[in-house]
Amino acid sequence: MKVIAVRQKILKANSQAARENRARFSRERVCVVNILGSPGAGKTALLERIAGSNDLSMAVLEGDPETAMDAERMEKAGAAVIQVVTRGTCHLDANMVQLALPRLDYRNRDFLFVENVGNLLCPASFDLGETMRWVVLSTAEGADKPFKYPAAFKTAKAVVINKIDLLPYLDFSMDQVKDGLAQICPKARVFKVSCKTGEGIDPLMGWLRGFSRNPAKTNSKS
Ligand code: MG
Ligand code: ZN
Repeated sequence: MKVIAVRQKILKANSQAARENRARFSRERVCVVNILGSPGAGKTALLERIAGSNDLSMAVLEGDPETAMDAERMEKAGAAVIQVVTRGTCHLDANMVQLALPRLDYRNRDFLFVENVGNLLCPASFDLGETMRWVVLSTAEGADKPFKYPAAFKTAKAVVINKIDLLPYLDFSMDQVKDGLAQICPKARVFKVSCKTGEGIDPLMGWLRGFSRNPAKTNSKS
C-alpha cells in the first residue's frame, strides 16, 4: 500500500514539473522529442544521423545511468549537448530535465532531443513535458515488443525500426511488428531505417522538418 502511495506521489510531482517544462518549451518555441528504446536499439546512432543532416539545428539531453559516452558522441556530431547521469535510476523524470536545461544551449534551435535511459518500461510513465515521443526499436530485439511493452508504444508519435540492414540474418517478422503497431499505436508514423547505412533516414528527416518551429524552415505540415 505504501509503495503505491509513494509512486503516485512521485508521479504527481512529476506531472507538475512536466507541466512547467511544457509551458516553457511552448513559450520558447522549441520542439522537444523524447526518445525511448531499449539499450542498444540505436537511439544515439539515430541522433548522430539527424545531426549529420545539418540543415536542422539541435540540442540533445542525454540520459544514462552512468558515463558521458553518448554526450561525447553527440558533441562530435556537432550538437549542443548535456549528459544527465542518473546514477542507476532507470528513467529520466521531468525534474531532471528541468535541472539540466539552464546548462544546455537549446534555445533558438529547431529541436531539443531527449535521449531517455535505455529501457522500455518506466520511461513510458514519466512525462517530461515533451512535444512528442518516439520509440526506437531494433530488428535484433524481436518483433513482439509492441505487444510486450504497450505503454511505451501507445504514446509514440513515431516508431523508428532500426537495423533493417540486419534483416537477412534475423527472424524478425515485419508483418508481426506491423500488426502490433497497428493494434497498439495505429496513428504512429513508422519509419524503417538503418542508422549504419543511412537507408530510410531521408523520409524520416522530411517528416521531422515539418515540426521545426523556426518559421523560416517550417513547411505546411505541423
Ligand atoms: Mg544511447
Ligand atoms: Zn525507471
